[in-house]
Amino acid sequence: IWKELEDSYRKILTTPSFNAWIEQASPISLVDNLLTIEVPSALHKEYWEKNLSTKIVETGFQLTGEEITPVFIIQNNQPAIEEPTIEEHTVLTEQARQSSRKAFLNPKYIFDTFVIGKGNQMAHAAALVVAEDPGGTYNPLFFYGGVGLGKTHLMHAIGHQMLLNYPDAKVKYVSSETFANDFINSIQNRTSEEFRQAYRNVDLLLVDDIQFFAEKEGTQEEFFHTFNALYNDGRQIVLTSDRLPNEIPKLQERLVSRFAWGLSVDITPPDLETRIAILRKKADAERLEIPNDTLSYIAGQIDSNIRELEGALVRVQAYATMNGQDITTSLAADSLKTLRPVIQKNQLSILAIQEKVCEYYHIELKDLKGKRRVKSIVLPRQIAMYLSRELTDNSLPKIGAEFGGKDHTTVIHSHEKIEKLLESDSKLVKEVDDIKGMLLI
Ligand code: ADP
Ligand code: MG
Repeated sequence: IWKELEDSYRKILTTPSFNAWIEQASPISLVDNLLTIEVPSALHKEYWEKNLSTKIVETGFQLTGEEITPVFIIQNNQPAIEEPTIEEHTVLTEQARQSSRKAFLNPKYIFDTFVIGKGNQMAHAAALVVAEDPGGTYNPLFFYGGVGLGKTHLMHAIGHQMLLNYPDAKVKYVSSETFANDFINSIQNRTSEEFRQAYRNVDLLLVDDIQFFAEKEGTQEEFFHTFNALYNDGRQIVLTSDRLPNEIPKLQERLVSRFAWGLSVDITPPDLETRIAILRKKADAERLEIPNDTLSYIAGQIDSNIRELEGALVRVQAYATMNGQDITTSLAADSLKTLRPVIQKNQLSILAIQEKVCEYYHIELKDLKGKRRVKSIVLPRQIAMYLSRELTDNSLPKIGAEFGGKDHTTVIHSHEKIEKLLESDSKLVKEVDDIKGMLLI
């Protein structure tokens, strides 16, 4: 009967839904017409009871002539889920793709490329519910967890999926800094009305990394009104942060309490099986030939952050290409042994770093080396100094000299400043990672 049920669900559910609800559940027993089904979380149980159980009764009756009653039990801390599945890419429809672009969604961050594992299955399930039933029970939906664990990915996936489900929906994705900047600009340019239109006339508002609202009073005030307007209108709000709202310094109490109205779900680091599955999926997507034991090896080396995991794969791939070899475990071990094996320290020049940083931030080399103190130049300059110190063997005075004759203490200061920022600013972490990626390939 389970097999038949699976088949009928496959027909009525989208692939992501099927993966989230059906694949994550398993039949335990059928005794006295009671069908016991094990599901991973309370959220799964609730969804099954609300949306999926009539089908069981129907199919059960067709097959057995008896009235089958489903009972759901919640798995208690199962060690790991079985082989996470690898699905084919769902191609977004052209319309969905266009709307997604308008909403600033990354086309790679869709449900189909997201591997479900123990640390994220609850978040994934909640994301699906929201994409299918926006403005429903889980409003706002709040994801929290460490850097590089998939919060942004899931958030974009909700946007894409909603546009597939509701082609006319208006979706808007912003980082909390963009929200803050838009707000400040709207005051300076006296365009408050446009600002409100842009943020309140949407069906789904995705605001990423709201820990950066900390200490921004005016922005919080405005976000409070935006939130209320959307919420009262039954529009869906999805938020992410690296920690719980009540742990964000100087976040207004009224925002903290509103964020708790819906559902908060944490995302925790992936276990080994999930990490292997993520690598496998990535490797397949990039059409890389990598033996399973090599993937297991890489997954065993990097255990916290999925972005780093992906970085390791890129590094191994680059190493293999440069050496004209196939990817094997020993090659992977070689390429991951030291931190920066692809390019030897002395092969990378300060100028190369400066040029990439300029390219990345769209600024001029002469400004980067110059003395102007505007923020849009100071930060890239500090990043370039930081990278010159990290990635090359040049002495501090030499690095200073290459930056228009600055003192070596300026280099030390910049290095410390960026190092400190990298501990808490996940956006910067990504930017620096991206630049490193550009340099090392
Ligand atoms: P966060 O926003 O939590 O810092 P991201 O969403 O930016 O993390 O994820 C970092 C990288 O890891 C992205 O490239 C993303 O696609 C990838 N990633 C994260 N979780 C998964 C997952 N479960 N399956 C596949 N890729 C993932
Ligand atoms: Mg993120």
